Amino acid sequence: MNPTYFPIDRFRNESTPLYYYDLHLLEETLRELKTSSFPGFNTHYAVKANSNPEILKLIAASGLGADTVSLGEIQAALSAGFPAAKIVFAGVGKTDQEITAALELNIGCLNVESDAELTAIAEIAEKLDKKAPVALRINPEIDAHTHHYITTGLAENKFGIALSMLDRLIDHCLSSEWLDFKGLHFHIGSQITDLEPYRILCERINSLQEKYPDILIPSINVGGGLGVDYENPEGNPIPDFKSYFRIFKDNLRLRPGQELHFELGRSIVAQCGSLICKVVYVKEGVGKKFVILDGGMTALIRPALYQAHHKIENITSKSEVKEKYDVVGPICESSDVFGTDETLPVTKRGDIIAIRSAGAYGEVMASAYNCRALPSSLFSR
Ligand SMILES: *Cc1c(COP(=O)(O)O)cnc(C)c1O
Repeated sequence: MNPTYFPIDRFRNESTPLYYYDLHLLEETLRELKTSSFPGFNTHYAVKANSNPEILKLIAASGLGADTVSLGEIQAALSAGFPAAKIVFAGVGKTDQEITAALELNIGCLNVESDAELTAIAEIAEKLDKKAPVALRINPEIDAHTHHYITTGLAENKFGIALSMLDRLIDHCLSSEWLDFKGLHFHIGSQITDLEPYRILCERINSLQEKYPDILIPSINVGGGLGVDYENPEGNPIPDFKSYFRIFKDNLRLRPGQELHFELGRSIVAQCGSLICKVVYVKEGVGKKFVILDGGMTALIRPALYQAHHKIENITSKSEVKEKYDVVGPICESSDVFGTDETLPVTKRGDIIAIRSAGAYGEVMASAYNCRALPSSLFSR
């Protein structure tokens, strides 16, 4: 680790756990995303990955749209400066209240996940005397080879519309005077590091488009899911957006004038965030040593929920000697473990620990379980 990367003195004066965000890295990531993109490619930021207002403002200012999954996220995106027309609204359980608000706010598109939802949207649109912009989220039946909690494109799960039901739902969109059919939406999962599933997605979309030669499909939305390197955040701080976009450029056959949308979350924000904790105790067990932190799964749940591993660094120890520790949180759950047999320099009570790559699905998933305070946030400038 670069010894000046973290503002250690600032951390000493703050109560921990806290999220530290490197806004310079976020800006570089956004710049790389933009230069890797192709004409006609449109990226929306998936707000659920991190909805910290500072982060949202910076991303809105870079010109991306926003992909949201609740009215709360729509409001957060609007407050951060995302234009309503560049906001899309997804999710399997949109309530009448949320649909009404989304239509009143003139958001760009509702990504619809069932026939029941399509019916509800058309009814609400009629009441408001407004046409609802809708896209259909299709389940492309692709195994993204990722954790079973974050794979979403397989045949029967709660997300999306089965391919076999698509004809009927397209008819529904086209025959209703209250629905404005905007296109087809896909999302195959998250933390996808092998690009092959995306190439297969392109082929699926190509054959689907051939199946509907006479239907106007203004846009294709291929979702998000691009993964990041959790083991080497320093060596690999910015995901390979070039290869990712290139897959779609080379394999997807868009129709003339057809827009292509992406919804990236993790790959934009994961590497700019670190969870900063202090060591409360180093506990000597029978055959192991435990580093017990003041922050645990309520601050960052990914290890407990997805068996994820984040790189753990002691950023204050000056020791040349390394030891093995289990690094754990203070929460009363056995799953509250950040790492087992982690090699760290000799670690003492009061040392500061950085848990890296925590910018995505970190702060947003924090809870107050055990009546713990939510982590605060601190920025690189
Ligand atoms: C979560 C989600 C995304 C973003 O996924 P990342 O893995 O963070 O890129 C995009 N689209 C939909 C529909 C999602 O549910």
